[in-house]
Parts: sequence; C-alpha cells; structure tokens
Amino acid sequence: MLVPVFNVHSMRLIVFSVLTLLSLSVQSSWYSHSGEAMGTSINITVWHPRESVSRLAVKAVMGEMERVDQLLSPYLESSELSRVNALAYLEPQKVSDDFFNIVQQAKKISYMSQGAFDITFASVGFYYDYRQKQQPTPGELTQLISAINYNHIVLNTKNRSIAFLDARVKIDLGGIAKGYAVDNSIRKLQALGITSASVSAGGDSYLLGDRGGRPWITGVKHPRLQSNQDPSQVVLKLPLSDTAVSTSGDYERFFIDDKTGERVHHIVNPKTGRSASDVMSVTILAPTGAFADPLSTTVFVMGVEKGLKLVNSLPEIDAVIINNQGRVVYSDGLKPQ
Ligand code: ADP
Ligand code: MG
Repeated sequence: MLVPVFNVHSMRLIVFSVLTLLSLSVQSSWYSHSGEAMGTSINITVWHPRESVSRLAVKAVMGEMERVDQLLSPYLESSELSRVNALAYLEPQKVSDDFFNIVQQAKKISYMSQGAFDITFASVGFYYDYRQKQQPTPGELTQLISAINYNHIVLNTKNRSIAFLDARVKIDLGGIAKGYAVDNSIRKLQALGITSASVSAGGDSYLLGDRGGRPWITGVKHPRLQSNQDPSQVVLKLPLSDTAVSTSGDYERFFIDDKTGERVHHIVNPKTGRSASDVMSVTILAPTGAFADPLSTTVFVMGVEKGLKLVNSLPEIDAVIINNQGRVVYSDGLKPQ
C-alpha cells in the first residue's frame, strides 16, 4: 500500500497553495459595475462568493435606478413628476407610494431648514438652463418668487394625493431622488444576502459593511480643479461603513455669467431664486440617503454658520463643508474631542 509521505516542506507548500487559492477566491468575489442612470454615473461594487449573485445584484440596482427615474424625471413627459406639475393645481393627483414618500420627506426637510430646502424652488428653477447659459430675468424672478413655498403643496395621506394651492408652482426632486434610489438599492442588495457593498449615483452613495475588514474610503472632491489637474484629486478621505454620504457642489452644473462674472449653478436659494454662494461644497454623513442627499443641498443653501447649527442639532448627522474661501470646516462629531 502506498502511504503518502509529507515532509515539512511539502506541508508548507500545500498550506501556501490553499492560502493563495483562498485569497484569489476572496478577491474574485468583489464585483464592480459602472453605468448611467438618473442623468448621472452609477457605480456599484458588491461582495458575494457567487458571481451569479453579484450579477443579479447589479441588475437589481440598475433596474431600481431606472424605475425611480421613470417616476421622477422632469425630462420625461410620462413621469409622475410631469403629471403632478401639469395637473396638481387643477385637481389633486393620486401618486405612487414612492412619489408620496419622497415629497413627504422633502417637506419634512423644508420644515427642519425653515425653507432652505424647498422642492418648489423649481417654480423659478425651470427657468435655468445651465447648458444654454440661461437664467430667469429680473421680471420673471419678481413674478415667480412667491410661488416658491412648500406650504403650497398639500399632501393627503389618506388617499395619497398631491395638490398645489398656486397655479405657478412646479416641483423638482433632483435634490433628494438619488439618495432615495440609493437607499432602495441597498435594500435590494441586502435581500440578496449581500453584506458588503458600495452604491453611488453621482454624489450620493451608501457604504454597506466594510471592504474586506477595513472601512470604505470616500474622497471629498477638490471644488476648484484646473483643467490640467487629475479629476480624481480629493481634498480629504473619509473612512466609512454603514453610512450614507452625499456631496453637493457648485462645480457640478454651472456656467459663468458673461456680464457679472458670477457662477450660476444648480443649487438655488429659495428666498432669492438665485444660486447659493456661501460655500463651494457640502458633504453630509447620515444613516440614510433620504437624509444625506437633501441635507447636503440644504446646508449648501444655509451656509456655514446656520448649516452647522442645524447639523450639530441632529443626531447621527455630520458634515464637511468647504466654504467660499476654500477652507474646510467640520461638524462637532468629526472634530477631535
Ligand atoms: P446633485 O444633483 O449634483 O447631486 P444636489 O444633491 O445638491 O446635487 O442636488 C442639486 C439639485 O437639487 C438641483 O439640481 C435641483 O434639482 C435641486 N435643488 C436645487 N436647489 C434646491 C433647493 N433649494 N431645495 C430643494 N432642491 C433643490
Ligand atoms: Mg443633495
């Protein structure tokens, strides 16, 4: 009978091979995908021992982003948003649970911020076209500014309908939709048994679990990169786990006004109908995207002082702000004790 003989050397070799195989399989269990949805880039990284599950996970996330976009896009005539904007003044509009929940959450953030976040900003916001360098005229602003008021939106919880009290009101959910879609995506991943993942839609992300025993690392972008600088350059890096993170920046969609030299960008101060100018970027850490996303827009509008006061009053919320001088400011929870 042949008895296998192991010496110490061959044992080491076997242990080494098994370890190598294990680490290879661990590495190959990470699966990434990049795509486009909701008018922005979607990046997904998931960990699962079976690639077939990871593929399914990516499909589920992309499907969810598409689904939310079909409901909320201002560019699709068939979206619920377009229907509500066209008809909610004439007659209360029954909407899907998703739509109702998002508008309800948006109103909650409006109360919290005394109107710094207000989805009726769109009553004026629709007059901006950043690609065409267009903005509302002073006449249009005077005529429309009082249409910006979240109290013009009436939510009927019983029959899940939305009505507008003013004929000029329009809403836009661009400041909250991506965070909501990211939250939904994370729930889809969890339902598939995934415990480590990163999902981002533009500047809105959620970091689920960790990255192989270490936290996920998220960078805060440099807000004033020159064209010859590396676009991935960051100002600082945040180690995160089980956290939503959302950045609002004045460098995402903007043009420079030829006459005044002012930066006209996509975050509008509801009080003036003009771009907010106190800061260059706001990054919010929160338990969910449905908070992080609208809060980054909110704090951007409120500016450093009022914004930090709000953030510091909220449990489990933190902020990193880059003010209009390029200085980095932190909320209390991120400062050394
Ligand atoms: P991004 O869309 O680039 O991720 P934000 O999360 O800051 O950036 O959202 C900006 C979007 O929020 C704008 O494109 C617009 O749709 C919407 N928005 C702008 N100003 C306000 C505001 N004051 N209140 C609510 N939503 C706003
Ligand atoms: Mg936002």
